[in-house]
Amino acid sequence: MSETTRRIRASSGLARPIAVDGPARVIALCDGYLDLDLSRFPDVVRGVGDDLAIADGQDLNDMSISVNAFLLELPGRLVLVDAGDSNRRGDSLGHLPRALKAAGYEPEDITDLLLTHLHGDHAAGLVKGSETLFPKATLYVSAAEQAFWNNPARLDELQSVQLPFAQAAMQLYADRLVTIHPGEEVLPGVTVRALPGHTPGQVGFQMGDRNPLLISADVLHLPALQVRFPDWGFLFDADRPRSRAMRHEILAETARTGLRLAGAHIPFPGVIRVVQGPEGLGFRTAEDEV
Ligand SMILES: [Zn+2]
Repeated sequence: MSETTRRIRASSGLARPIAVDGPARVIALCDGYLDLDLSRFPDVVRGVGDDLAIADGQDLNDMSISVNAFLLELPGRLVLVDAGDSNRRGDSLGHLPRALKAAGYEPEDITDLLLTHLHGDHAAGLVKGSETLFPKATLYVSAAEQAFWNNPARLDELQSVQLPFAQAAMQLYADRLVTIHPGEEVLPGVTVRALPGHTPGQVGFQMGDRNPLLISADVLHLPALQVRFPDWGFLFDADRPRSRAMRHEILAETARTGLRLAGAHIPFPGVIRVVQGPEGLGFRTAEDEV
């Protein structure tokens, strides 16, 4: 764990409520921090945007991105959106069970698990050893995401690394796995949105009417730079051109409508609002309270 990770974690806490109108109460949960180096962002031009990164608390020489999950309290249901990375990489990640406890709950209390996609930092936390961590929860995964991981011969080398986590999730939850599709209201007041690119079946979950919130999965991995430079992709995007197009589309919608973006890798508690940037320079993060 880097000093940066240590410093950020010390100041952030593990569970933080997010204001949403409508039936859901939303709590951001911190699974921890993932140390990365800039090789994961092959489009980044060093020297361009370093000041933005510093202003956002990100040290490009010693990077550490959040891994967040989101808890939705709905009448009669407790819903977890993504499940973190587990502690497979050591103690900088895998804090989701502690974060859940900090919010007043245990894994047995979760009734529904909404997965944005099945990469390890979202799905590995579903499983503990060879058992499910959430014994009573139904797992919801998009049809396109299941199809992607059920066809291992078509995965490239980078995606193949993630296959065991996707397979473990689908196999261990097979008797309570529900297939979802974009456009559906998966739970009362929670709508599925297609966000293909990072994986072909990636989805987000939108809720709220007057001040809506989109849990936008991995549209952004490094908001400090990708909000201003949406063309800058992430190495593990399964389809980088499509991911880039999706990032532009979502950021433009957000700037136009005021939609708030929650994300697994947006600095904890993982919510931003963006506005149009200076001419020709993408977008910028709004300063107001989200
Ligand atoms: Zn991720």
